[in-house]
Amino acid sequence: MRFCLRCAAEAQVTFPRSARCERYGYRAIFSREPVVAAIPRDEDGRIWLLRRTLHEGAGRWIVPDTPHETAEASEVRAFAPADLPWDEMAFWSTKQALRDALA
Ligand SMILES: [Zn+2]
Repeated sequence: MRFCLRCAAEAQVTFPRSARCERYGYRAIFSREPVVAAIPRDEDGRIWLLRRTLHEGAGRWIVPDTPHETAEASEVRAFAPADLPWDEMAFWSTKQALRDALA
C-alpha cells in the first residue's frame, strides 16, 4: 500500500504495521487476522454502540461484539436509527457498515 484507500493521496506507511493519510485522518492498521464485527440490534430495532475509552477513537462510538462495558469501553447504549451519533463514530468504516445495515 502506498496510497490512501479513501482519497488516493500518498500515504505515510510504517511497515509492517500501519498507513496514515493526513488529508482526512484515515488510518489503516495491517493484520494478518481477519476482523469481523456484528451490528447488534434489539427487538425495537435500536442499535447497540459502545463508547471507546482507550486506543484510537477514544471517546467515540463503535460497534461492539458483545454490548457490555469493559476497561476499553466506558459506555454502552442503544440508539434508534434516527438518533445515531453519526458525527461521533470512531471510524469511517463503522459509519459505512451502519449505513449499509440501515439501507
Ligand atoms: Zn486520504
